[in-house]
Amino acid sequence: MFQIYCPHCEELREEEEFHPKGQAHIVRPAEPEACSDEEWGDYLFFRDNPRGIHHEMWVHAVGCRKFFNVTRHTVSYAILETYKIGEQPSVTAEPSASEAAASTADVRQGVRA
Ligand SMILES: [Zn+2]
Repeated sequence: MFQIYCPHCEELREEEEFHPKGQAHIVRPAEPEACSDEEWGDYLFFRDNPRGIHHEMWVHAVGCRKFFNVTRHTVSYAILETYKIGEQPSVTAEPSASEAAASTADVRQGVRA
């Protein structure tokens, strides 16, 4: 029996009550008109697919119906923590070279991750 901790209900609930909704912490560009087509396309369609630590948005669909974030290891499937939207994860991966370059690009665009 697999259970996930809902930070809103503040208790462990059955896995069947939850649905993953994709990558967490995706920030909409502050000025979409200023984005190039490539930058806007990246925002809309491209998501990380890391081997290791990944932050995901999940919904407690058959419970409180609220969204929250999960830090999950994509190799072991272990859920390392859950936290509410707007909070920051306490478990993070070391940024790879490509992620470091991406965060530098975000700073240039005035976007905060
Ligand atoms: Zn809940």
